[in-house]
Amino acid sequence: MTSSFSASSFPASFPESTVLGYPRIGPDRELKRALEAYWEGRSDRAALERTARRLREDTWRRLAELGLGGLPSNTFSYYDHVLDTAVLLGAVPERYRNDDDLTAYFAMARGAEGLPPLRMTKWFDTNYHYIVPEIGPDTVFSLDAAKPLSEVREARALGLETRPVLVGPVTFLLLSQAAPGSPDGFAPLDRLDDVVEVYERLLGALAAEGVGWVQLDEPALVADRTPAELAAVEAAYGRLGGLAERPALLVATYFGSLGEALPVLARTPVEAVALDLVRGTAGDVGLLAGKTVVAGVVPGRDVWRTDRDRALATLHAVRERAGRVVAGTSCSLLHVPYDVERETGLDPALRDRLAFAEQKVAEVVALAALLAEGPGADAPRRPAPQAQPLASGARAAEGRAPYAVRAAAQAERLKLPLLPVTTIGSFPQTGELRRARAALAAGEIGEEAYESLVRAEIEHVIAVQERLGLDVLVHGEPERNDMVQYFAEHLDGFAVTRHGWVQSYGSRCTRPPILHGDVRRPEPITVRWARYAQSLTSRPVKGMLTGPVTIVAWSFVRDDLPLRDVVFQVADAVREEVRDLEEAGIGVVQVDEPALRELLPLRRDGQAAYLEWAVAAYRWATSGAADHTQIHTHLCYSDADQILAAIDALDADVTSVESARSRGRVLAEVGGFGRGLGPGVYDIHSPRVPGADEVERLLEEALRAVPADRLWVNPDCGLKTRSHEQVEAALANVTEAAARLRERL
Ligand code: GLN
Ligand code: ZN
Repeated sequence: MTSSFSASSFPASFPESTVLGYPRIGPDRELKRALEAYWEGRSDRAALERTARRLREDTWRRLAELGLGGLPSNTFSYYDHVLDTAVLLGAVPERYRNDDDLTAYFAMARGAEGLPPLRMTKWFDTNYHYIVPEIGPDTVFSLDAAKPLSEVREARALGLETRPVLVGPVTFLLLSQAAPGSPDGFAPLDRLDDVVEVYERLLGALAAEGVGWVQLDEPALVADRTPAELAAVEAAYGRLGGLAERPALLVATYFGSLGEALPVLARTPVEAVALDLVRGTAGDVGLLAGKTVVAGVVPGRDVWRTDRDRALATLHAVRERAGRVVAGTSCSLLHVPYDVERETGLDPALRDRLAFAEQKVAEVVALAALLAEGPGADAPRRPAPQAQPLASGARAAEGRAPYAVRAAAQAERLKLPLLPVTTIGSFPQTGELRRARAALAAGEIGEEAYESLVRAEIEHVIAVQERLGLDVLVHGEPERNDMVQYFAEHLDGFAVTRHGWVQSYGSRCTRPPILHGDVRRPEPITVRWARYAQSLTSRPVKGMLTGPVTIVAWSFVRDDLPLRDVVFQVADAVREEVRDLEEAGIGVVQVDEPALRELLPLRRDGQAAYLEWAVAAYRWATSGAADHTQIHTHLCYSDADQILAAIDALDADVTSVESARSRGRVLAEVGGFGRGLGPGVYDIHSPRVPGADEVERLLEEALRAVPADRLWVNPDCGLKTRSHEQVEAALANVTEAAARLRERL
């Protein structure tokens, strides 16, 4: 057992290799199934806890088997690690409190009867979503260390020492939002002193337990920080480091360079700092001499095997300047799937180039051994990618005609009424369709049987929209498992996995496709379904595509080309698809870009350049369309802050955005776009059906910000998660509201 470390003694030495975190959903999504069974009342708490414990134990055993030195604990979560930190600090808002701790926890995460959940948003520039804690001036903090302590004990029962991982106090508060009713000017970071006091007690409790090292995650330090925030960092870690009885401290930073925060951390008495040397650089790493540097040289955000020679050279360079160096991952492995060995369906030449979490752990271990032994030791080298012609960079879109010209041509062709009603694309995905897709993949039914089901679904969806009186119809996307994977399956240069699940939030996972080569569209992808839908109706059918930025953001992408060039390759394919839809007689094409905000660089200095090429790629993808073809785009608005000018610059003829949750703000911000605008009038996240009066009021409000000849009427987002009954009832009220209002205009 590691003895407790006190600040006066020499720092306990850090193991030679580590990872900053690990997937927790289970190799076969065991946690997802256990959670959903518990939520639906099909199992009890004991069953959920058994599954969770087995997953934690399997992880520690596996990491130890692979030879990893520093094993992390407290990386498990029933839902989200930021929410876990709120619970640890006692920051559970009054309205969620419950005698049963798990009931309160899941109410914050998912809501309960009459009680909406806490807000959820994206974790830095990843597709992982965390629960946003609410902190007010009166939040009473108290220590609840049960979770990290019990994980330490569980691992010990297996004979394994671990390093508890926690979100650090500064990042925790920077990610929190001010509780409702907080006075103007209050920021959660104002409560840092009180929060640090709880961390002090936590470190005391962990020291008493004999824990040698604790990891405090401070990824917020790789974004631009004000001098006041940096001073807060120095004060917080000065206090924590000054404790007499505490474990040694590793402050983990990731997703970029520390920059000006590095000297600040260097001045604090923490024993170790983790740096992301994949997305970031070592900077003034010499200032960390005297501390341990966990050098993140194995990428935690991609699926490629690490370039051994480069990683080793980085480790040596850091050691020369900073002294003690540990081989590590660039960030937690939460963002990659478990094990590439299970992907037996992948082309072996591609599989040889890939590393998922298990393989990355093995790489870290091998690199640590090489670093210890010096040159000569052997570890698997990264095979060279097959030689591929590198595509050139950006393509400049030849502009479409000015909006006024396009709008006139479109009005002439489409003959839409004022306040046209449409939807965002997907209709409910029935269980029957999902089962049929699984049966098709398993070879139990043929292509013909599957496609006749898809056709039947399209017929149904078109008939419903005609009956309810929508103006621009959609085919409903029944053939798509996912808005990105579907396109990846139909483009060259992408591979899809069978087991490559990555947690998105709570029990939700996605299987990001792997973009490994040059992207080409061997043949049209969506055209035949759009054409079929159009053949069933005389109203315009809107073709539905995913934009190049979103396809790339939700995939694992090759690391041998600049991201911009990869996005432009995908934009080429989308552009061809837009042209083919047009040629097939489709007069309206929507190109969704809900992930435009997600790839925004964390530091301001890279943001303008990113937005410039991202917008250029979108315009390249859409600008081949004739003036009389109406281009729509859609974004989920919660992601739209900081990029309004970029959304405007997409120059889509119609932009639809989510607005249920912040309607006033949305209207004020996008009302002046000067082209078609569809602020959502139906919150699709809830099973609730909005009444016609309510929708009418929302439209009246919108008309104060948007002229009648530019206002569109649509739900907030796609309808795939709702039931057919809910959707039909809601859309009936939406069309009725639009009709009533039209009469009065
Ligand atoms: N067209 C997609 C749909 O309707 C858009 C989804 C999204 O914005 N995330 O499902
Ligand atoms: Zn959306």
